[in-house]
Amino acid sequence: MTYTPSAERYTSMVYNHCGRSGLKLPAISLGLWHNFGHDFNEQTSRAICRRAFDLGITHFDLANNYGPPPGAAESFFGRLLKTDFAFHRDEMVISSKAGYRMWPGPYGEWGSRKYLVSSLDQSLKRMGLDYVDIFYSHRFDPATPLEETMGALDSIVRQGKALYVGLSSYNSKRTREAVKILNELGTPCLIHQPSYSMLNRWVEDDGLLDTLEELGIGSIAFSALAQGMLTDKYLNGIPEGSRATQGKTIRDGHITDENVKRIRGLNEIAEQRGQSLAQMAIAWILRNNRVTTALIGASTPSQLEDSYGALSNLEFSDEELKAIDVFARDAGINIWALSSSS
Ligand code: NAP
Repeated sequence: MTYTPSAERYTSMVYNHCGRSGLKLPAISLGLWHNFGHDFNEQTSRAICRRAFDLGITHFDLANNYGPPPGAAESFFGRLLKTDFAFHRDEMVISSKAGYRMWPGPYGEWGSRKYLVSSLDQSLKRMGLDYVDIFYSHRFDPATPLEETMGALDSIVRQGKALYVGLSSYNSKRTREAVKILNELGTPCLIHQPSYSMLNRWVEDDGLLDTLEELGIGSIAFSALAQGMLTDKYLNGIPEGSRATQGKTIRDGHITDENVKRIRGLNEIAEQRGQSLAQMAIAWILRNNRVTTALIGASTPSQLEDSYGALSNLEFSDEELKAIDVFARDAGINIWALSSSS
C-alpha cells in the first residue's frame, strides 16, 4: 500500500533544541528495540512507524542489536527507508549504537575502535544509509581506554558516517571524562541516552541530569514508560501478549505487589489530571526542560497515539509533583544499572 505522510505532521508536535546544539528533536521519539524484529508482525511494525511520522515524530532510535535476531530492526527500518520513507530521509533523525554483544568473538561488543567502526559499517549497510544522524557508544567499557572509544566516535564523524555522537548509560563521572576527551578532539557530545522514568530515577541521584545541563548536552530518556509498567496495562494483573509475558526484558520480579501499588497510586493522580498514566509518565519526564525528548516504544499505533496525547498537558502544579513523589520511587527495574556503575 502506498504511503503518503500526513500533511499536518508538523502542526502540533513540540520540537526542543538538543542541549546547546542547533539540532531540534521531537518531544517524543520512537525506539525500535522491541516489536520491530522477526518475532513481530511486520505490517504492525510498519503501521507504528508510519503513525509516528504522521504525528511529527521525526526521531527514530535504533541500535545494532535490536531485533530479534540482532540487526533485524535496522534491516526492517532500511526497507522502510526504501519504500514508505524514500523521500523523507532528510526529515528524520536516525540513530544507532554499538556496545552490547553483536557477533561472537572478542570484537563483537564493548568499546574498542575495532568494534565500533565495523559495527557502524554493518548498521549503515542494513539500513541502506550513507550516514546516521547520531551514533552512540551504547555503554561504558571499563576495559578499554576512554580515549580509544571517544577517538573512534570522533573518527566516525570525520569519516562522514555520523553527524553527531552520543553516550548511553554512562554515569555522571564517566560522562564528564568522555565529554572532555570529545571536546579536545573537536567532536562535541550532542546527547546522552539514559534510562529514566517515574520508577527509575537514577539520573537524579547520580547527578547526571545536573551534569548534562551544566555541559549543555541534550538528553533522551529511554524506557520512559518503564517498559509498559507506567501505563494502564498492569493495573489488574499481567495481560496475555504483554512484554511481561514474553520472557524478554521485564523480569519476573518487576511486577510486584509493591510496584503495582505504586502504579495504581500514580494512575489515580493521572486520572485527576485527565490523562492516561502513559501520558502523565511522559509529561513528567519532560517537566523541567532538562530532558530533550522522551524515548518510548509501542506495540500498536493506538498506543503511540495515546502516548502522543501527553503533549496536551505538560504542566504540573507543585502539589501534583509532591503527590507523584510519594509513588515515584525506585522500583528495582533498572536493568542497565551495571552499565552505568563503573
Ligand atoms: P517504553 O515506552 O518504556 O515501553 C514500551 C512498551 O510499553 C510497549 O512495547 C508497550 O508494551 C507499552 N506501551 C507503550 N505505550 C503504551 C500505551 N500508551 N498504553 C499501554 N501500553 C503502552 O519503552 P521501551 O520500549 O522499553 O524503550 C523505548 C526505546 O528506548 C527502545 O526502543 C530503544 O530505542 C531505547 N532503549 C535504549 C536502551 C539503551 O541502552 N540505550 C535500552 C532500552 C531501550 P507491550 O509491548 O506490552 O504492549
